[in-house]
Amino acid sequence: MLVQKFGGTSVGDPDAVRRLIEIARATRNRDGRGPIVVVSALSGVTDALLAIAAEAGASRVDRALAHVDQLRDRHVAMTQALLGDGRMAPLAAHVESEFDQLAAVVKALGVLREVSPGTLDVVAATGELLSSRIVADALVHAGLPGQWVDARLAIITSDDYTRAVPLMRETTAALRAVVSPVIDAGRIPVLGGFVGATLQGHTATLGRGGSDYSAAIVGAGVGASEIQIWTDVDGMLTADPRIIPQPRLVPRLSFAEAAELAYFGAKVLHPSTIHPAVERNIPVRILNARKPDGTGTLITADAVSSDANQLTAMAAKRDITVVDITSDRMLMAYGFLRRVFEVFERFQTAVDVVTTSEVSVSVTVDNRRHLDAIVEALSEFAEVVVEPEMALLCVVGDCLRSDPAMAGRVVGVLEEVPLRMISQAASRRNITVIMRQADLSHAMHRLHEEFFT
Ligand code: ADP
Ligand code: ASP
Ligand code: MG
Repeated sequence: MLVQKFGGTSVGDPDAVRRLIEIARATRNRDGRGPIVVVSALSGVTDALLAIAAEAGASRVDRALAHVDQLRDRHVAMTQALLGDGRMAPLAAHVESEFDQLAAVVKALGVLREVSPGTLDVVAATGELLSSRIVADALVHAGLPGQWVDARLAIITSDDYTRAVPLMRETTAALRAVVSPVIDAGRIPVLGGFVGATLQGHTATLGRGGSDYSAAIVGAGVGASEIQIWTDVDGMLTADPRIIPQPRLVPRLSFAEAAELAYFGAKVLHPSTIHPAVERNIPVRILNARKPDGTGTLITADAVSSDANQLTAMAAKRDITVVDITSDRMLMAYGFLRRVFEVFERFQTAVDVVTTSEVSVSVTVDNRRHLDAIVEALSEFAEVVVEPEMALLCVVGDCLRSDPAMAGRVVGVLEEVPLRMISQAASRRNITVIMRQADLSHAMHRLHEEFFT
């Protein structure tokens, strides 16, 4: 059984949905059953919904309602284009009622003047709940047995709203209860990605880009043979195509390489996607929905990049903050790092890269929410310097393990770029460097020229 996830641009307009339908049809003709389809919201809709919630919370209710109507029009137009006027009645009524509910939430937020994370998730989830209904009906209209499955009944999560994590035992049981019967009945389950619900049944989302994660959770839960991520690029590329105009396709990746690339900024795959796949050893394939015959990128446990002497790819994150923490008093003393990391833990802020010397430690964070409080707490026992507007560039390749000279070559290519931190961890699968954001594009071009062309 295949799980096929389609991202925002791959359901963004009627033609995109028609392509999705043909991809699902071809899969079904080949496999004789399935696939399980997971969809994102139509492109741009999650951003629009979050903006609506923010406007409503700031009491700009009229503006928010005008934006709700724009979204309503877009979804109604999509429904009409895919199903025609005659057959769309039940779906159109459903779309209208979802937007009526959203409008009611907006008005309530305008009065409350406060948007809780739980309410934000209710608003954000609307995008996927609608797109999945539309796709399910469009499949049926195209002669395929699509059946909508409410993701809130299938993915059971923690109550960390806006970044909930799946409770795998409960989710596996839920998937057996609500998805397996649909498959057994010979139908095509269609679920909204990104969305789940807590044990109490409250809507929760898995965090931005989380539809990939949903696909992997579903794939692991039903024991899929492959999890396919259909998107708008040919697969994992050697670099972010928005920075490097002509990156190459990476045909094969190991789970470990993919995890590092995703975590360090390759947006094409949500970083958590790999975990459920690793646990059940299910291959993940990234494919271009506009080129269904492409081979894409295949990610498996043991895959090695085509040329073992080559670096595999690089990824970058902008808007990184470096925090330098120095204390002379800590010279030769133990417990310094523990105190430092306790502070980050207390404020639930993940640290990405760490470098240390005897009296100082530098760390990077990309979530600045609690930064002021963190600096204050650290200042009780150390001198703290914060440097914003930094970027993280991560070069990944299993060859970094086998060829000791490779790390030196990477840093050597960047000789004109002032590097703030350099790090290579025990996996020796990546080298991560931190620089000013202004230098990132130049650094990526240099590395790409040297290692990927
Ligand atoms: P979807 O809506 O299908 O989930 P995303 O926008 O989340 O798509 O991810 C696909 C985008 O990721 C591509 O359009 C591309 O701009 C970006 N991207 C960044 N780094 C990479 C990379 N190394 N390889 C491929 N795509 C990348
Ligand atoms: N629609 C959600 C987002 O834009 C989830 C996803 O597309 O993966 O973040
Ligand atoms: Mg995505």
